[in-house]
Amino acid sequence: MEKNIALIPGDGIGPDVVAEAVNVLNTVASKFGHKFNYETVTAGGCAIDKFGKPLPQEELDKCLKSDAVLLGAVGGPKWDNLPSELRPEKALLGLRGGMKVFANLRPAVMWKQLKDACPLKDEIVGDGLNILIVRELISGIYFGDRGTAADGKSAWDTEKYTWSEIERIVRMGFEFAQKRQKRLCVVDKANILNSSQLWRKVTESVKEDYPDVALSYLYIDNASMQLVRNPRQFDVIATSNMFGDILSDEASQITGSIGMLASASLGDGGPGLYEPIHGSAPDIAGKNLANPLATILSAAMLLRYSFGLEKEAKVIEDSVNSVLDEGYRTGDIAGSHLDELKSSGKLVGTKEMGKLVVERI
Ligand code: NAD
Repeated sequence: MEKNIALIPGDGIGPDVVAEAVNVLNTVASKFGHKFNYETVTAGGCAIDKFGKPLPQEELDKCLKSDAVLLGAVGGPKWDNLPSELRPEKALLGLRGGMKVFANLRPAVMWKQLKDACPLKDEIVGDGLNILIVRELISGIYFGDRGTAADGKSAWDTEKYTWSEIERIVRMGFEFAQKRQKRLCVVDKANILNSSQLWRKVTESVKEDYPDVALSYLYIDNASMQLVRNPRQFDVIATSNMFGDILSDEASQITGSIGMLASASLGDGGPGLYEPIHGSAPDIAGKNLANPLATILSAAMLLRYSFGLEKEAKVIEDSVNSVLDEGYRTGDIAGSHLDELKSSGKLVGTKEMGKLVVERI
């Protein structure tokens, strides 16, 4: 298989971690007889420095004509005081909107080897967690009508969803559930919000198409409690933009490390956007300290969801699992074992961690 991948290294640790993911992709390509061509896209703070804007149209166009996009991270203190339309984060919104990726998939996976980093009790997490949050990404309150009154004494934001915007998310939730544990929980606030009542109506109207999936509903306040009280009850969660934003951060906290979590944003058949959930970590950029595994796992998602290469994706995930089993850790996932790891030589940097994964592929 020959495919074109647009790479957005971005700022801070972005280039460090994307370089390792590319090594992993190239290793998979040569093992399985594929060819991946790369085109580098300049977006974020580095694009502000080079072009005066965070996402020039020609850079977005490179993404649109690719088969999939892998992003490191954007932003940093250097650009923090720019006006909001010139902030690096605008590149993220521009990419999501421009690529029309309406669903954000955030797997919250707790690796059994990193159980120490989980803030919950052992009996709550058992031998691990694996929750998939499907979040609506380009509508709802973050994109609805908003304003501030002339006297500055009141302000408003509007949560608005159309039937089709909800249906495509809910169907995606059902479809992922069918491939997993066959449980879907739709999270809303239907006891109060009209928009949430529409989410339920749409869900009820499509559920017959997925008779093998056990469907449940939770109000957002209860869902956020249940996530720490009994997270293993969840398989797939489908929800709106704002509720998904909050729940996915809560879920990632439960898993322990920000350096391990991947994400995918998907639309209707166009290229998908894959990125670690962490930011550009300017405090450790260029120091060979960043954990590249979230980006490597994002590359695995890219192979699975954009190219249909399940076997190849699994090989990457299994290799990460082996490296963790063998006890190798970057600083962020070392927990309280820093000294032990140092003396055993198992405390590794970005490049070494990338190489360990490559060797196991
Ligand atoms: P951050 O995720 O960059 O860092 C938070 C903490 O986690 C830091 O201590 C950092 O060193 C650590 N960390 C993050 N990723 C790590 C990794 N892979 N390995 C080891 N440690 C890691 O969040 P922040 O400090 O709030 O933001 C820094 C910059 O990143 C800001 O400019 C912010 O706007 C931007 N940001 C970008 C994205 C994105 O590109 N998707 C997301 C969030 C924040």
